[in-house]
Amino acid sequence: MTDFDYRQWSHRAADWAADYRESLRDRPVRPQCVPGDIAAQLPEAPPENGESMEAIFADFERIVPPGMTHWQHPRFFAYFPANAAPAGILAEQLAGAMAAQCMLWQTSPAATELEIKMVDWLRQAFGLPPVFKGVLQDTASSATLCAILTMRERALDWRGNKEGLFGQPALRVYASHRTHSSIDKAMWVAGLGQDNLVKIPTDDSLAMERDALAEAIRRDRENGLLPAGVVVCVGGTSVGATDRVAEICALAKEEGLFIHVDAAWAGSAMVCPEFRYLWEGVEAADSIVINPHKWLGAPMECSAHFVRDPKPLLKTLAIQPEYLKTYGKEGIVNFSEWSVQLGRRFRALKVWFLMRADGLEGLRARIRDHVAWAESLAERLAAEPDFEIVTPPMLSLFSFRYRPGDMTDEALDALNLRLLERINDEGEIYLTQTTHDGRMVIRFVTGAFDCQAEDVETAFAVITRTARALRDG
Ligand SMILES: *Cc1c(COP(=O)(O)O)cnc(C)c1O
Repeated sequence: MTDFDYRQWSHRAADWAADYRESLRDRPVRPQCVPGDIAAQLPEAPPENGESMEAIFADFERIVPPGMTHWQHPRFFAYFPANAAPAGILAEQLAGAMAAQCMLWQTSPAATELEIKMVDWLRQAFGLPPVFKGVLQDTASSATLCAILTMRERALDWRGNKEGLFGQPALRVYASHRTHSSIDKAMWVAGLGQDNLVKIPTDDSLAMERDALAEAIRRDRENGLLPAGVVVCVGGTSVGATDRVAEICALAKEEGLFIHVDAAWAGSAMVCPEFRYLWEGVEAADSIVINPHKWLGAPMECSAHFVRDPKPLLKTLAIQPEYLKTYGKEGIVNFSEWSVQLGRRFRALKVWFLMRADGLEGLRARIRDHVAWAESLAERLAAEPDFEIVTPPMLSLFSFRYRPGDMTDEALDALNLRLLERINDEGEIYLTQTTHDGRMVIRFVTGAFDCQAEDVETAFAVITRTARALRDG
């Protein structure tokens, strides 16, 4: 590259970004492409010689945005949000420009000290007691893996890392059957095995049954297995299943188990004191994960991992070969010792920017709006004779089905899948499905940072209009 002028091109990129954000409402939320469309536009091999930034940028504009699902679209109601505050996006630009490797205090003192402060700001924002310290992991999957590894090492008196798992007693971890697949994957990766994740049944309120948990632990001990920990769910991914945190924590404490709370999505709502009843008793947990990259406005990747006592986590994950030692600095934090990865990005800057730009009141107002809009949409759909709400709103998430008259469950499942496909192909809004107790349902979640009441109005119009057009053939 000969003509690269960083200043000029970063101005161009900034202009493009501002135009892009303004254009979102006019774009389909999900792109209109089929698998292979984008790959077909790219050369088979890398260029031997550098190309002009003009050509690279032109190809970017031509190929990439039309092939993107626009997660910052105000009418994105699928999955869970991965919303991004404009101030957070700006912070990412700056962090990208410095491109620091933030593994140790001395490799980025400002990043480390800002991260310590921002985790504590988040702790206060979520109403957690000061005993909790923490780290910004990349994702909840990583935080949960770290928690499961800590359960493992603690239960084995730190023999697992040294001796391996061969010949050790089988460790058992408990969670309701409604928890996220990242718990299962953490069991695989930690070498504990899927079969040792004991899925506890849930009651009518979708919460783990305490007595079933107690019974499972008792039976395991009787059979010579080693109970290690429990994963408590606050806001499950499918339909928002939530355990009774205080009750499960009390039992886990009695049993000497390590407690990890997965509040990856719902945790952001804890900035609002009125929602904290949903995780009452959480102070008893050993480890808690909340993703500010889901619903608080931090661009991917930003997962706040709180621990009551960092020592077991560090004893599990800190490794210090000579080339990573820091001499002559007492009491420093090296965040690579709190996670699986060594090299890490500067994640705290976006948290600092977004919390200052919006303030806690701004963040609360947005989440309150999202919850209120989801509740009112659920009410409106419930009032339509041909729609049914399958699971009621848990914060900003509910699930529904279109049910025009008497049909078999199979026919209804097929009809709702067709409805979903038609809505998503049109692109005005974006929804996803799940199964709930064996039935196909459509999920609705608000959470985009720029979502407004009118966008939820549009969702109502699109859903009802498309469903009835489908029915009428
Ligand atoms: C999204 C989600 C996860 C996984 O989060 P990642 O950050 O993508 O790994 C885990 N648990 C729950 C409840 C979630 O909603």
